[in-house]
Amino acid sequence: MSAAPGLAAVASADPRAVLPRAVTDRRSSGELVIDWEDGARSLLPHGLLRQRCRCAACEQSRRSGLPPPAPAALSEIRALAVQGLNLVFADGHERGIYPWAYLRALGDEVAGGGGRVPSLRD
Ligand SMILES: [Zn+2]
Repeated sequence: MSAAPGLAAVASADPRAVLPRAVTDRRSSGELVIDWEDGARSLLPHGLLRQRCRCAACEQSRRSGLPPPAPAALSEIRALAVQGLNLVFADGHERGIYPWAYLRALGDEVAGGGGRVPSLRD
């Protein structure tokens, strides 16, 4: 069963990938909402997404032991299809690529579902 042939093609390219059905930016509550193909829904606060950015610059400062960036609202969402999302934040940061699997893991963490989330504490 496949309502979205395009996404199905992507899924067969990487069977481990969790793919979204819909991505919605709820600006009023400051959350990115992702509805997944398996029926799950992730609510991702903008500020958390900003702090969990995995671009080279943010990873580097994290490794250097610097505090995480201040939370910032999302200002733009750029879909990257197979890869995930490129999120642009109100503080001007636009280099973060968020793979679908990472967004799903963050969503599970927010929901307390015990998802596999890379630790950012070390
Ligand atoms: Zn970054």
